[in-house]
Parts: sequence; structure tokens; C-alpha cells
Amino acid sequence: MKDCLFCKISNKEIPSEIVYQDEVVTVFKDINPVAPIHLLIIPNRHIVSVQEMESGDEEILGKLFSAAKNAAEASGISDSGYRLIINNGPDANQEIFHIHMHLLGGGRMKHPMG
Ligand code: AMP
Ligand code: ZN
Repeated sequence: MKDCLFCKISNKEIPSEIVYQDEVVTVFKDINPVAPIHLLIIPNRHIVSVQEMESGDEEILGKLFSAAKNAAEASGISDSGYRLIINNGPDANQEIFHIHMHLLGGGRMKHPMG
């Protein structure tokens, strides 16, 4: 989609630190990390949020999880653990309206969330 930052990142129209890409997903480093490891996992297809997903998107969104698993392994945090977050809409402070999964790890997190 035109004028979408994350579409531009997956199309390599603007620079980012991509750590993995295939025909369905792109994984890149968050520009403002809040954990020692902070990656963003996006579908290459422009899906706005979980609320906007359509029938047929399940397979694409499932691939976000397998990409997260592989990225955690590649980052050396599959045993120490990590948190996956998808912000949806205003109350969750979603800033970029192209669905993305945050992968946070590399240090012990505070609990509870929210
Ligand atoms: P959210 O609040 O879930 O929409 O998160 C958007 C995330 O995108 C934030 O963590 C930002 O730091 C990150 N972000 C914004 N612009 C860029 C960019 N050009 N490259 C990488 N990450 C970005
Ligand atoms: Zn997009």
C-alpha cells in the first residue's frame, strides 16, 4: 500500500535492518528498541490490524509465529524466552497501521504487563 512505512520497508524502498525475509514475511530491527533484542515481524501483504484481517489471512498470520520462532533461535533467545506483542488500535497505542508482531527478549521482563 502506498504511503505505508512498513510496506516500504518490506519492499526495500526505505532502509531498515532486515534480519530475515521471504515471500510472505519480513523481520527487521525496531528503530527504537525497548529490550536488548527487539524485532518486528510483518506480513509483506498490507494487513492493517488483527481487527482488519480477512478470511484467508490465517495462513499468513500463522507464518508470523514461525518467523518469530526462527528469529528467536537465530537471536539465541529461544531458551531464555521472549515476549510477542501485537498492538491493535488506540488503547493499545498502535502507531503503524500495518500489522506487526514485536519480539522482545534478551533480558528478564517485569510482570505484569499493561
Ligand atoms: P506499534 O506501537 O505497535 O505500532 O509499534 C510501532 C513500532 O515501529 C515502534 O516500536 C517503533 O519504534 C517502530 N518503528 C517506527 N518506524 C520504524 C522504522 N523506520 N524502522 C523500524 N522500526 C520502526
Ligand atoms: Zn503496509
